[in-house]
Amino acid sequence: MRRKLAAGNWKMNGLRADLAEIEAISAAMGLSPDPAARAEVLLCPPSTLLMNAADIAQGRIAIGGQNCHRLPFGPHTGDISGPMLIDAGASHVILGHSERRMDHRETDAKVREKALYAHSIGLVTVICLGETAEDHDLGQTVRIVGRHLQHSLPEDATAANTVVAYEPIWAIGSGKTPTPAQIAEVHGFMRTQLIERFGAEGEGMRLLYGGSVKPGNAAEIFAVPEVDGALVGGASLTARDFLPIVEALE
Ligand code: PGA
Repeated sequence: MRRKLAAGNWKMNGLRADLAEIEAISAAMGLSPDPAARAEVLLCPPSTLLMNAADIAQGRIAIGGQNCHRLPFGPHTGDISGPMLIDAGASHVILGHSERRMDHRETDAKVREKALYAHSIGLVTVICLGETAEDHDLGQTVRIVGRHLQHSLPEDATAANTVVAYEPIWAIGSGKTPTPAQIAEVHGFMRTQLIERFGAEGEGMRLLYGGSVKPGNAAEIFAVPEVDGALVGGASLTARDFLPIVEALE
């Protein structure tokens, strides 16, 4: 059984005052008498809030970074390393988000290298992939997703150290989502590919859907076969929006 996962990506949003939202989300998760029976919750705030967020979370939810370098330290101005994320209290890291692929020219090869290093120091990676609007319209979705999957996931990926997030770029922040049938097609394809390459580990890897997940559409998306949870952007910024999404997973 794959444990469901609700992951929040705050992107470049969040000031200290917003830690109150992390407090509220953590408190709600801490109320459960049997936390292991619930969906797992992960929040990835900006780097400046990581340490405070981890202190507040106290293990009731997991905290993650939004990127890390492929090296542990060195002359890389403005970058953050895996050991720094761990030092700040993070257990996870998002890699290969389409915004980083676009803004920082991250390729599949770079994402794979970062993931290999992150795994070597014990971080769980949430590896993102997805097609552009153009590729979608040209009917290239499965081909693009297959290529990302093949080249972004490192050979040491396991059910324990890797989560895959399918995020159609045209659905991110747009209010548009694929139909349940379209999500089912892509997730079914990814599952087959993962099992072919990684066997039982591929069967156990969690596959998230991301792109305009909201309280209003979460239940419908989570009912799709092979969807093990969501990577949520805008709706993860407040407990009011995020907690109903977590509940829809349970
Ligand atoms: P969104 O972002 O939920 O705001 O569409 C999702 C993401 O980019 O992870």
